[in-house]
Amino acid sequence: MKKNATDFKVKNQKVIIRCDLNVPIKNGIIEDDTRIKKSLDTIEYLINGNAKVIILSHLGRIKDENDKSLYSLKPIAKRMSELLYKEVKFIPFTKGVEVEDAINNMKPQDVIMLENTRFEDLNGNLESKNDMELSKYWASLGDLFINDAFGTLHRSHASNVGIATFLPSAMGFLVKEEVEKISECLTNSKKPLVVILGGAKVSDKIGVIKNAVEIADKVIITGGMPYTFFKSLGYNVGLSIVDNDSIDFCKEIYKKYRDKIVLPIDLIVAQSISEYSQTRLTNRENIGDKEIGVDIGTATINLYKSIVMTAATIIWNGPCGVFEISKFSNGTRKLVEFLNITSAKILIGGGDTISAINKFEFKNTNAHISTGGGASLEMLEGKELPGLKVISDK
Ligand code: AMP
Repeated sequence: MKKNATDFKVKNQKVIIRCDLNVPIKNGIIEDDTRIKKSLDTIEYLINGNAKVIILSHLGRIKDENDKSLYSLKPIAKRMSELLYKEVKFIPFTKGVEVEDAINNMKPQDVIMLENTRFEDLNGNLESKNDMELSKYWASLGDLFINDAFGTLHRSHASNVGIATFLPSAMGFLVKEEVEKISECLTNSKKPLVVILGGAKVSDKIGVIKNAVEIADKVIITGGMPYTFFKSLGYNVGLSIVDNDSIDFCKEIYKKYRDKIVLPIDLIVAQSISEYSQTRLTNRENIGDKEIGVDIGTATINLYKSIVMTAATIIWNGPCGVFEISKFSNGTRKLVEFLNITSAKILIGGGDTISAINKFEFKNTNAHISTGGGASLEMLEGKELPGLKVISDK
């Protein structure tokens, strides 16, 4: 069992906390502050415990000097101050005397935020390559380390894995909640467990499909992924999205797990991916040469309903069609409707899936919506996350 924030005596301690403050930002204006709000619980806990709080985070990708002005954490520190009703002192450096002086002058309950950890990527990718010297330096600034950045737990960077190798470390509340809820769905879920995997490319989800067929009672393959399966079965898929590198994989896994894997039986096909395109409903054996599969059909929606409504646990990652275009969004919208009325335990992950549930008014309070797309997918693959592995054991 990994340590969590409450396992530490934090009073008077310099606590470095790695948050995931990677919010959408344009011209210094934060477009969505959900991630900042989600990180407040652990920070408030540390303040109330009289710790000296040192916040690290990345923001965006830093490839050249110009990116620095686009992805400074300064506006994030300002927003966090407003939300905490307390000064979050921003230090516009990632290392050096200014950082060290600011930390040496901290009093209990003070909060400071250093500049974007990925600024160190301009010095030869030191952050993203988990450079040992940088990790040691950052670790030397504190007494304890808390990782509350679930979204980067699948990465091995200096600001998460690196620091944790040099300091006593623990999970923050957000990481603890995510890890516990996802692990519970994967290893201790009530059956039947139904995994719904949609989205565009099979190759992105091969690991998840492999793990899902082992742990689930039914694995629904939807969105753009069924067309690679159909092609592997010898159907004409017209101009639908096909992941040619994954055809053999689809053939093999379907042969072995055809009782578990559920493919759509009918589809909405279009002439082009556009709101103005003509559409028709067809079964999966009758896609025309110039047609593109863009959504699931009515028989498939009913099939999904029967499976979803008898499930005790549901994991969903990836939309059922090109839901961004309203004409092709019916399957995804209907799935959200079924999930709204089921009493099953639900786990939802992935950026597009979260956009879809927001768009179609998902209101099931029994669900866990994961904040980390990549990290939650890797957990679904059954992989061990490096950012978690390195945290001290109890
Ligand atoms: P992913 O990031 O892999 O979860 O993929 C999400 C994307 O898959 C969304 O942008 C959808 O528009 C897209 N998608 C869903 N169904 C299809 C389809 N039938 N053809 C092409 N793209 C699709």
